[in-house]
Amino acid sequence: MKADYAFTYDVPLQRVVFASGALARVGDEADRLKISRALIVATPGSGERLGKKVCDFLGASAAALHAQAVIHVPKAVADGGLKAAHETKADGIIAVGGGSAIGLAKAIAFQTGLPILAVPTTYSGSEATPILGMTDGERKITVRDAKVVPRTVIYDPDLTLGLPAAISAASGMNGIAHCVEALWVDTRTPVTVGLATEAMRRFGQSLPAVVADGTNVSARADCLIAAWLAGTVLNSGTALQHKLAHVLGGLGLPHAEAHAIILPHVTRFDLEAAPEARTRLEEALVSTDPAGAIAGMLNRFPIPERLSEIGFDRSKIDFVAEEVAAGKITAPRPVSADDVRGLLSAAY
Ligand code: NAD
Repeated sequence: MKADYAFTYDVPLQRVVFASGALARVGDEADRLKISRALIVATPGSGERLGKKVCDFLGASAAALHAQAVIHVPKAVADGGLKAAHETKADGIIAVGGGSAIGLAKAIAFQTGLPILAVPTTYSGSEATPILGMTDGERKITVRDAKVVPRTVIYDPDLTLGLPAAISAASGMNGIAHCVEALWVDTRTPVTVGLATEAMRRFGQSLPAVVADGTNVSARADCLIAAWLAGTVLNSGTALQHKLAHVLGGLGLPHAEAHAIILPHVTRFDLEAAPEARTRLEEALVSTDPAGAIAGMLNRFPIPERLSEIGFDRSKIDFVAEEVAAGKITAPRPVSADDVRGLLSAAY
């Protein structure tokens, strides 16, 4: 008889600093990485304000603030970041903000090999992965490369207190998607399954608390821990949930919201074939209907519940179905183009 488990487990080399007020340590942490001319990467608006805080702490080690990150890292935005890194002769990148800022830092690091220090302020988990997603036209491309793993991550829950409820909810659902899928991919390991379950438990308890009251510091810290664990388990592999979100992202749909909307549907579909994942989710979410519990969270959160609300063009259902089916996903169950059409219609 064959054993159930066979796996490979790569441990990303990463230093993690977690504390309230930890941003004050950004200078010391940059020194550890021998960064003396940092390019600080952020999104515009509130992201830029976070970037300025980083510059203040860094003083002379801040070469420039490049607050031009946008979702899905379009090629032109990646090229702009690369140009800024060259022009400022940066010897390291500090990404502050959500997955968009971290994504742009990864795109620069992929071309230059510069070290990244990440200061994540949403729950999308990109800081813990070697995955870089970029868009070129209507297609999203993904590369995996150890070069883009942030060498150091500073988690400072205080920086998340002003994160709006809708972004907290959507990026938290993105984190939950990492956990749920990690429980049923066939490349899961005892480590990733354990971390995913723990992350799920924390998100289940604390994400609704954060959405209800963004100033709840302990719930904020709990969600940031969950996001770290969720990002870590994303490395173990992906299946239908992430493939669907990936193809929808290529069409320009907002990433976290797209993940959130399809998640209850994919969870219901895949849990039919994943009894171990079901048991873990039942325990973590304290519910006998995990897909229903996730749908309930989505319903109570101030974010869109349907693909029609985020600009999905119904005529693209066949395109998405064929793209996803071409991925030949088999775990925890095979997915046909018709299955995807059904899921998308339900989510629409
Ligand atoms: P985001 O980075 O786009 O941020 C959303 C908004 O929140 C932005 O306007 C930003 O300025 C604002 N914001 C961020 N932190 C804030 C704070 N503390 N206070 C106030 N406003 C704040 O959103 P996201 O969901 O974190 O990231 C989405 C991107 O991340 C997508 O491009 C997605 O593909 C990518 N992603 C990548 C991975 C990976 O492993 N490569 C994993 C998950 C997501």
